Amino acid sequence: MKIKAKLTFGVGLLFLLILALAAVSGRYIHQLKRDTNNILVANYNTLQYSRNMLIALESIGEDTTAINTFNENLIKQQQNVTEIGEKEVTNLVMKHFSMLRNNPEDTVLISSIRGDITELMRLNMEAIEQKSNIADATAQKAIVIISVTGSLCFLIAFILLVNLPSGIANPIKELTESIKEIAAQNYKKRVHFESHNEFGDLAKSFNTMAEKLEEYSESRLDKILKGKKRIETLINNMHDPVIGIDETNKVLFANDEALKITGLEEKDLIGRQIQDIAVTNDLIRDIVKDIFRSEAGKIKSEQLKIFADGKESYFEKEILDINIIPTGETQSQFIGQVIMLRNITPFKELDLAKTNFMGTVSHEFKTPISSIQMSLQLLENKQIGNLNIEQKNLVESIKEDTLRLLRITGELLNITQVESGSIQINLQPSPINPIIEYAVHANKSAADHKKIAIDVNTDDTSIVYADSEKTAWVMTNLISNAVRYSYENSIIFVKYKKENNKIQFSVADTGQGIHPQYLTKIFERYFRVPGAKKEGTGLGLSISKEFIEAQGGEIWVDSEYGVGSTFYFTLNIAPHNMKNEEK
Ligand code: ADP
Repeated sequence: MKIKAKLTFGVGLLFLLILALAAVSGRYIHQLKRDTNNILVANYNTLQYSRNMLIALESIGEDTTAINTFNENLIKQQQNVTEIGEKEVTNLVMKHFSMLRNNPEDTVLISSIRGDITELMRLNMEAIEQKSNIADATAQKAIVIISVTGSLCFLIAFILLVNLPSGIANPIKELTESIKEIAAQNYKKRVHFESHNEFGDLAKSFNTMAEKLEEYSESRLDKILKGKKRIETLINNMHDPVIGIDETNKVLFANDEALKITGLEEKDLIGRQIQDIAVTNDLIRDIVKDIFRSEAGKIKSEQLKIFADGKESYFEKEILDINIIPTGETQSQFIGQVIMLRNITPFKELDLAKTNFMGTVSHEFKTPISSIQMSLQLLENKQIGNLNIEQKNLVESIKEDTLRLLRITGELLNITQVESGSIQINLQPSPINPIIEYAVHANKSAADHKKIAIDVNTDDTSIVYADSEKTAWVMTNLISNAVRYSYENSIIFVKYKKENNKIQFSVADTGQGIHPQYLTKIFERYFRVPGAKKEGTGLGLSISKEFIEAQGGEIWVDSEYGVGSTFYFTLNIAPHNMKNEEK
């Protein structure tokens, strides 16, 4: 039972009992009063009148007023008849008194009147005794009932007195003890109130609080410091440089590798604003320029070439925003950034070796491929001899494979140029038509093979400021892709138009199209759309991008999956438009 209900019930019961006690006592006091009143009014007055009549009777012969006194008291007695038989005796007194009035000297009459009055007095005396007995009985009953009710009240009050204070005080005492224990950092302390009242709820809340405090105490300062040391050691043992800054760009930590490559000491770095350090340190300047430029929340990744320890090293710079959600809150909060420099020198060295190898191999392939092509031409020469149908077919297929080999070798050579940064761009005003014609011609036999028409929209006079060889390569590659990824009996549209001092070229096909998720990836090196059945190296578009951008142009694609793709690139019309002319 809830304490509130218990208190209400106990005090309410006590209140009711006190009310009942008051009512019973009142009732009996009233009854006793009525009984005594009865005696006083009914019998005591009669005795008084009788006494007055007896006194008057004594002096009736000598005193003439005695007759009147007697008569007055007799009249009063007549009006105060209350007991059984009293009326008859009073009548008798009246009768004898009227006879005595006529003969006042009659002693016999006087004595019979005295006898009547005595009888009257006896009757009332008896009544008094009887009524006094009744009042006694009433008093006895009142004593019993009042005592019982009083005892009941006492009992209940006693029970409440014994139970209630201890029922309230004991849990409070236990709770106080527990709070003292918690204050003394004994977070294991719990209270155990079995009851289902307010103290039960209080115990539950207290225990939850103690549990949370216990959990919180587990993460106390020494543990936090230990954890911090552990993380610092971890970061220090990393082979890559790591620098951490807070939300105000103050350096929080920098590991040994970071100190080594920046050539700074810990005191020059930790606790200082990174932009202040950047003023005197080139490397830090290069590292932090992105912090102030970058968009919030984005991971930035960039390559960095650093000359340290007497050799060139390559690092991939990554800047990570650190956001946390503070306890009890829902909004995430920016608390700083981590700058990581991943040492990619070994990969770079391997990459260089691979590029060199690819360059050598593809270069070495060119001579045998050319001699295969020459031999094929000789084989086709009628002067040497006629070939039968099978031999012709064989020669045709060797020709196709040789062309493919040549294309791949060309792509590999180009990519080695791109990777080693040795693209030679020869920009000059170049007529567009020959470029497009070359590209269309190069793809003619492949297009004919798939019965694909190449629709060219040209204009004889247009000139572009470009490297015609590289642009022709790009155009050839785009048309080659369009042919390879189109269905038979389709049309490829090759167009160009003048737009804002630029020429915009486009190659549109109605082939399988490219899924939106791959649209940006297809320009990356070695990327091929997963599941693409046509053979290829995944290099064509990335080389095209490098070639076009090296000429100050842009390349992009519009494609709808299942409908077709249109590749665009722009080139400048005149040298003064060049953005990257120095390239
Ligand atoms: P690949 O040698 O594989 O053709 P590319 O760099 O030229 O390499 O093209 C990259 C990828 O882009 C291809 O694997 C192909 O899936 C997709 N792609 C290129 N051109 C087209 C096109 N016209 N239609 C559909 N997909 C294309």
